[in-house]
Amino acid sequence: MRMELFTVDGLPLIKKGDDLAAMICERTELEDHDAVVIASTIVAKAEGAMVLKSDVVPSERAINIAKRIGKDPALVQVVLDRSVEELVKYPLLLVENLNGHVSINAGIDDSNVEDNYFLELPHDPDGSAKAIGERIADRCGKDVSVIITDTNGRAFKIGQTGVAVGVYRMHPILDWRGENDLFGNELEITEEAVADEIASAANLLMGEAAGGNPVVIVRGFDLHTRDDVSVKEMYRPDNEDIIRKGLRCLRQ
Ligand code: GDP
Ligand code: MN
Ligand code: MN
Ligand code: MN
Repeated sequence: MRMELFTVDGLPLIKKGDDLAAMICERTELEDHDAVVIASTIVAKAEGAMVLKSDVVPSERAINIAKRIGKDPALVQVVLDRSVEELVKYPLLLVENLNGHVSINAGIDDSNVEDNYFLELPHDPDGSAKAIGERIADRCGKDVSVIITDTNGRAFKIGQTGVAVGVYRMHPILDWRGENDLFGNELEITEEAVADEIASAANLLMGEAAGGNPVVIVRGFDLHTRDDVSVKEMYRPDNEDIIRKGLRCLRQ
């Protein structure tokens, strides 16, 4: 087996309103069933999902949380505005955002964006992935999958990796249940987070700093589907989430 990953070179600094699909099509020869992996940072920039720091008025609650964790109260306010639940408030702020994604600071930061702005995650990353995928089909006639990624930390382990925050035409989970192992035993549990695995591999080429490589094409590992898909297929339902239950117990 063989799969190939390569960057889309020569992308400029992205501005609000930029047509990412067109910019990608102009710079690379896509093929049907490629996975186009895009850093959430540039999707957020193109969609204007950013907040001018000086516009933020932190609440008393944001100020208190910020004081405890040693962060900018304005950042904490923007995180709270984009969150439905705070899972951990000290020594870091781990939240579920409005889209169901759980991450530190709701994925909001000020890296790779102008100094005076906080960059949010795209507000509807599945919708963003779909819009870009459909626009690529329009522009260059190729039927691709799209994954929007962010770099996230992990519980229990040091080191961040790329994860999927939005998908189009690719089920994020590959269900192995019911398949047999090498010895004929039926697999009962394994569901593989393929969208995160592809995101992580692509993130390796993106890097985190000034490389300027926000788009990676993955070719030769075909997970393409025409079904309706959502990144939310990966989010564990509340009542089955023992870690979340444990954190709620700790908070009481
Ligand atoms: P995140 O993982 O979505 O938070 O994105 P990062 O901030 O880690 O950036 C991922 C990659 O995209 C890095 O190689 C950055 O240099 C690059 N990048 C970020 N913003 C831009 C941009 O506006 N234009 C270009 N060409 N590259 C960017
Ligand atoms: Mn990020
Ligand atoms: Mn990153
Ligand atoms: Mn194994």
